Amino acid sequence: MSVLIRRLGPFFFPSILWRTHHSSVHLTFDDGPHPCATYKVLDILGRRKIRATFFLVGNDALLHPQVVRRIAEEGHSIGNHAFSHRSLFFKPKSLQVSEIEKTDEILAQIVGKRPIYFRPPYGYFDRNTLRAAKETHHKLVMWDVDPRDYDARPVQEIVEDVASNTRHGSIILFHDNHSTEDTVGQFLNPVLNRLEERGYQFSALTV
Ligand SMILES: [Zn+2]
Repeated sequence: MSVLIRRLGPFFFPSILWRTHHSSVHLTFDDGPHPCATYKVLDILGRRKIRATFFLVGNDALLHPQVVRRIAEEGHSIGNHAFSHRSLFFKPKSLQVSEIEKTDEILAQIVGKRPIYFRPPYGYFDRNTLRAAKETHHKLVMWDVDPRDYDARPVQEIVEDVASNTRHGSIILFHDNHSTEDTVGQFLNPVLNRLEERGYQFSALTV
């Protein structure tokens, strides 16, 4: 997502959550459950007693229900990140609704409740995505801080990127997938240290 869209998005799409009015900041992790990366993230957050929000892919939740269960048991919020993780941009509304609903049902089977939040794969959305989210009673969630952790950037670059862009209520985008399974264990603690030094506290997204 370009800087321009991140800046202008809140004006053009006010129904989408880009940032909250809380004083705490919100860590979000996309693309799990992943049997390696998600556990690394959960271990770090658990040790630091920090709660976050995980946007889960329905198809992967089917494959790794035990990871989904652990996310819920440890008090984190769970959001819907569609079933197949294909781009929904310019896809028929019926397909978009079905991607969301299928994932809702799978997650409800595993943890006993349907997610309230939806984040479209790659952050790509169109008018039908907004309608599909509304029809399925989800709040569409984007972010205002994206350190591109999937790009294998040096730890210090990720830390500086997050530190210079985070404000109160920021929603920060991270990934717990194959692209970060080797790196998340290295960059997450330094990022959290820096934000804590600046006085920020963390909370999961809640309605
Ligand atoms: Zn994703």
